[in-house]
Amino acid sequence: MDFAEITCPTCCEVFEVAVPPPYEMPAEVDYDCEVCCRPLVIVFTEDDVYARGLGD
Ligand SMILES: [Zn+2]
Repeated sequence: MDFAEITCPTCCEVFEVAVPPPYEMPAEVDYDCEVCCRPLVIVFTEDDVYARGLGD
């Protein structure tokens, strides 16, 4: 399983998340920041991973 580093849009801390298998791409996963526990959405595509806040 691959992991990717993302930056929390709320607290700007970096943490690692597990990347879904390629056949599930693209995917959007609801997640709680491991640092500040604020909800965010992690967007996985075949060549990028990033997080965005729920209100964006
Ligand atoms: Zn955070």
